Amino acid sequence: MHHLVGKPSHPFAAASGGVGDPASPFYPRPYNPTPPHAHGFPIEVAPAPIERWRAGNTGIPFAWSFAATRPGPHVALVALTHGDELCGSFALDLLLREAVRPARGTLTLIFANWQAHDLWTPAAPNRAFFIDHDMNRVWRPDMLDSDADGVELRRARALRPLIDTVDMLLDIHSTQQPSPPMLLPGDAPRKARFACTLGWPGLVVQDFPGSAPGRLRDHTALGAAQGQRVGLVVECGQHWVASTGDHAVQACLRFLAHLDMLDAGFLAAHARPAPAAARHVITTHLVVARGPGAALDQAWPDIAEVTQAGTRLGHDGIEEIRTPYANAMLVLPVERPRPGLPMLRFARTVDAADAARDAC
Ligand SMILES: [Zn+2]
Repeated sequence: MHHLVGKPSHPFAAASGGVGDPASPFYPRPYNPTPPHAHGFPIEVAPAPIERWRAGNTGIPFAWSFAATRPGPHVALVALTHGDELCGSFALDLLLREAVRPARGTLTLIFANWQAHDLWTPAAPNRAFFIDHDMNRVWRPDMLDSDADGVELRRARALRPLIDTVDMLLDIHSTQQPSPPMLLPGDAPRKARFACTLGWPGLVVQDFPGSAPGRLRDHTALGAAQGQRVGLVVECGQHWVASTGDHAVQACLRFLAHLDMLDAGFLAAHARPAPAAARHVITTHLVVARGPGAALDQAWPDIAEVTQAGTRLGHDGIEEIRTPYANAMLVLPVERPRPGLPMLRFARTVDAADAARDAC
């Protein structure tokens, strides 16, 4: 990281050099600056001081909505669905501090699992992931309408009436291993096509049909195969790395700008150049650990590409794992998974013929 003197002019510069700078959209502190870290992952940032946003203005704590006079969509940016994934809270804190208001429609900003996030500590940073339930698996009627209880279910039930009126939703996440920022639209091709038009980030990973239910981005019409409402996940990079916070800011800006919600001056002041075109890949295989010996031969980043078809990657506990085709993307590989849990997904690039057919 660079060490800058004076007030940084850009969020990324702020992230790199803004230790102790209250104007920074990120909150790096010198409390854990030097690797190696006991838990094995770098921590370059401290949580944003979101307590000041507790009141909300919707009747729901940590949930803010701002309406323009000009009609338009209801757009929601959601941070902290996973309480240890800090990046989205930097972006929302920036938008709230800068009093960003929508040019049309309604803009809603939600710090979702703020209670788990409250437990975040650099000594055990993953502990804040959730308290009772993974908050990105509870958005399904058989959980929301059940008698089950828990911190995340109560929070989801409180947010549900607000979420039910959202047209376009961006749920902001980060990953354990290093990975490029990517949009995860789920399995609906229409949502992948929309994700490709955003212009940032430059990678869209579409799920194969039947992805696990209960994700916020797929709640009711936000995940339907047909329709106009869209929920997306953006993965912004590795948890607790300063650039991940910047990626979250960029994702929010691009999402709002694409929907004609954002003041041009604010966009120009904060947006960075976007990649020329999005790479659209589609998940083709899910590899699940089938026995106790399941392991990959090496650790991988959260997304990687293997050129040769048939390359051995490891063992699922019953048989070898090999790449099923050339230029296979490995998505979210887990080096030593427990039996029954996903080990990795294979994804292939959507080629020109597919793209023409899908008009992506
Ligand atoms: Zn997450």
